[in-house]
Amino acid sequence: MVLDSEADTSLLLGTEDVPPVMEENPAGRSPFLLTADHYGRLIPRILGDLGLPASQLARHIAWDPGIAGVADALSEHLGAHLIAQRYSRLVIDCNRPPHTASAIPLISEATTVPGNEGLSRDDAEMRRAQIFDPYHRRIDEIIDARAQQGMPTVLVSLHSFTPVYAGIARPWHIGTLYHRDTMLPPLLLKHLRSEGDLVVGDNEPYAVSDETDYTIPVHGERRGLMNSGIEIRQDLISDQAGETAWAERLARVLGEIETTLRKEGMI
Ligand SMILES: [Zn+2]
Repeated sequence: MVLDSEADTSLLLGTEDVPPVMEENPAGRSPFLLTADHYGRLIPRILGDLGLPASQLARHIAWDPGIAGVADALSEHLGAHLIAQRYSRLVIDCNRPPHTASAIPLISEATTVPGNEGLSRDDAEMRRAQIFDPYHRRIDEIIDARAQQGMPTVLVSLHSFTPVYAGIARPWHIGTLYHRDTMLPPLLLKHLRSEGDLVVGDNEPYAVSDETDYTIPVHGERRGLMNSGIEIRQDLISDQAGETAWAERLARVLGEIETTLRKEGMI
C-alpha cells in the first residue's frame, strides 16, 4: 500500500499528539549544543500503550528517567540550546540507526513489546518519518545555522542509565561515551575525576559505535564536531533535588571546559 503524506500524518501523530521535537533556549549562545534522544516517553495516541502496563512504560526501556529535568536545568544554567525528543524509545529509538532491529524493539531488556509485533514496513517507515526524521533534521538544521553564524558547536548528548543491569550493580555515577573525538572526552573525564567524589566511567556503562548509536556518530563525528555522550546513573537523578544538583555540577564542569577550549583556541 502506498500512503500519501497526508494519510501518514493521520495514521500516526494526530491533532492531539504533540510534535516530537522539544527545544529550550534556541537563542542560547553557549558553544554546547545539548541533545536528549530519550527525553520523553509519550506514545502517539493511535498506538495506545503498545500493549504494555504502566509499570513497564515508566521504566528505562521506555525512556531515560531523570534526564529531562537535568537537561532542562543544564540548558538554563549554560544558556545552551537543547534539542530533545518527546516520544518513547519503544515507539522508535532516536539513538539507533533506523534500519537496525533495535530501532523499533520487539524485545527490550527481556520485555516483549506487543505493539511492535508484526509491524509492517509502512508502519515502521511512518514512525521514522514522523518522529525520528524531524528530530534529526532539526539537529542538522541547527548545526548548519550555527556554522553559518560563525558560532562554535560542541555536541553533548545526554542520557541516563540503570543502576543495576542483568543483576549486576553499576559502580559509576557518571560516564563519558565517545568513539572518535579525542578532544572533549578526555577533558570531561579529567574535570569529572577532579571533582573528587565521583566514580567516573570512561566509555562505561556503554561505548559509542556506529552500529549501536546515531546522534554522536552522525551529528558529532561525521560533521567533525567535538562531542561526547554523558550518562548519569538514574538513582542519582530520581527526584528534583538530584536533577538540580547534577545540572548545577555539570554546568560548572562544562563552564570550566569552555574556558579551557577558548584559551586553547579550539572554539
Ligand atoms: Zn538514553
